[in-house]
Amino acid sequence: MASVAFEHVTKQFGNVVAVKDLTLYIPDGEFLVLVGPSGCGKTTTLRLLAGLEEVTQGRIYIGDRDVTEVPPKDRNIAMVFQSYALYPHMNVYDNIAFGLRMRKVPKPEIERRVREAARMLEIEHLLDRKPRQLSGGQRQRVAVARAIVRDPAVFLFDEPLSNLDAKLRVQTRAELIKLHQRLGTTFVYVTHDQVEAMTMGTRIAVMKDGVLQQVDTPQNLYERPDNLFVAGFIGSPPMNFFEARLVPEGEGLWVDTGAFRVPVPPDRVPVYRPHVGRRVIFGLRPEHIYDPEFAPPLNHPAEVQARVDVRELMGSEVHLHLVADRQIFVARVDPRTHALVGNTIRVLFDMDRMHLFDAETERAIR
Ligand code: ATP
Repeated sequence: MASVAFEHVTKQFGNVVAVKDLTLYIPDGEFLVLVGPSGCGKTTTLRLLAGLEEVTQGRIYIGDRDVTEVPPKDRNIAMVFQSYALYPHMNVYDNIAFGLRMRKVPKPEIERRVREAARMLEIEHLLDRKPRQLSGGQRQRVAVARAIVRDPAVFLFDEPLSNLDAKLRVQTRAELIKLHQRLGTTFVYVTHDQVEAMTMGTRIAVMKDGVLQQVDTPQNLYERPDNLFVAGFIGSPPMNFFEARLVPEGEGLWVDTGAFRVPVPPDRVPVYRPHVGRRVIFGLRPEHIYDPEFAPPLNHPAEVQARVDVRELMGSEVHLHLVADRQIFVARVDPRTHALVGNTIRVLFDMDRMHLFDAETERAIR
């Protein structure tokens, strides 16, 4: 078991800076998810840790050991790839045992470890099969079993669920969480899927354009995003954004979008007041906008009128696409709502859940 540290790590491919000055500490036993849109540098970060790419600058540590120049096989890590990379001509047993044989681990020890991993992943009945005789989900388990038998200090996963169908993905997600709890080993897991990140990670590192944006627990990322990018990336449907200005009135402060004006909760007024007159972005998540008929008690509600443009029934909720003047936004409301397409309705904003960003720097104001 071991912690992982990136210290000012940069990776360049020619002119492309894939990872820029990354400093990140991952404590021993953490399930860290690296998430971001395609091309943000998450796979490169994982490959740098695995030793499959050389850093351009900076140092990488596993535990107390500087592994920056250590070859992959001596880093004491195991990686599970998106493609699983199983040997097609070997059966499942031999696929799992392969790495141990290469290391000249004694035969009885190999047998013991393979059986134990197979039991843990419930693939004991598949040990004689070839990879082509397995389903996608079963292949994925074999790939994980092969990583487990090596008993590494750190497990690396590169989008391991992306080849599975939606249902199996949800199931396997839960199994990997359990596996992490059981093994207690450090997991570093790459995905572009924010839902996967939110449900699996003990902490999440959000990347964009090679730059680490924020690293925090799922709850803190959701409640206190540091910037506009993280705010829009975490959460589904995404946070609504409105270009706005802050307008003072007596002791109070209003958010004015041009389409509507809503009051800032009193406890936020001192924090936001220095931004009066500057361009700001007002953010509110769809789940914090209510149909008044089904709203819970709110301490600081604000009423806004809007026309219903689209109504999507999602089963347990309804997504209303709303238009107020030129502002378009989404509300996630109770499925019993009476709002129909074309209606002008009143909705309630839970202003205690509002976010505010500087329009120039895109950083959260708080
Ligand atoms: P995806 O989810 O699409 O895999 P990613 O976030 O994992 O994306 P990376 O694969 O790390 O992103 O790529 C980051 C940047 O580095 C991209 O601009 C990519 O084109 C570039 N890049 C990655 N590997 C190489 C390489 N071997 N040679 C040149 N450029 C590369």
